[in-house]
Amino acid sequence: MKTHPARKPPPSEFKPSAEQVLAALDQGNRRFREDRPRHPRTGPLRRRLAHYADQAEHALATVLACSDSRVPVERIFDAGIMDLFVVRQAGNVVSQDTAASLEYGVLHVHTPLVVVLGHTGCGAVTAAWQRQSQGAGGLGPNLDRLLAYIEPALARMPQPFPGAGQEEQIAAAVEENVWQALADLGRLSPEVRRAHQEGRVAVAGAVYQLADGGVRWLDRRRAQEALQGRP
Ligand SMILES: [Zn+2]
Repeated sequence: MKTHPARKPPPSEFKPSAEQVLAALDQGNRRFREDRPRHPRTGPLRRRLAHYADQAEHALATVLACSDSRVPVERIFDAGIMDLFVVRQAGNVVSQDTAASLEYGVLHVHTPLVVVLGHTGCGAVTAAWQRQSQGAGGLGPNLDRLLAYIEPALARMPQPFPGAGQEEQIAAAVEENVWQALADLGRLSPEVRRAHQEGRVAVAGAVYQLADGGVRWLDRRRAQEALQGRP
């Protein structure tokens, strides 16, 4: 990570607002799902710039996504080099180490926006759901610890679930897990929570839809509340 932690944030006029970044991500996703990507900022000039530049003067958003190979983050948003500070973790859960990487994106890469991107058909969310609802066996200590980050989201889902099908329940769990990740980020990183309170960063939740390549943005106000501890 080529940046200078001691530096002050770049003047705000060099960075777009969170709303402008959201609009740019949304436009990039539209190009991706309509199969007309531009692959911006990826050519030789950009690569040379990346060698010399401070990413903090360029990166637009910090994105937490699942490790799933079906969710290639830069492609989904038709983004280029130095556009996104990406953290990937199975189930897009926020452990202490994930929170540290996201905190780096906010405090040192100075992105005006953090996006938590869940996705349909998430294997980690499905495994956690099967364990809770069907008493499926453990997956070993490491994976069980990872799935434990998803359990509070499942515990908030109504029982019995309206629309009893497994597909509907997992879709709802994926969304609930986005709120959980934002809440865990706020809980594990007081620094990010403070930056958010002071208006230096905004947050957004979204779900990537494997079926059509679209990104569905979730309720903006609820994302801010989840980060502040009200998932
Ligand atoms: Zn996943």
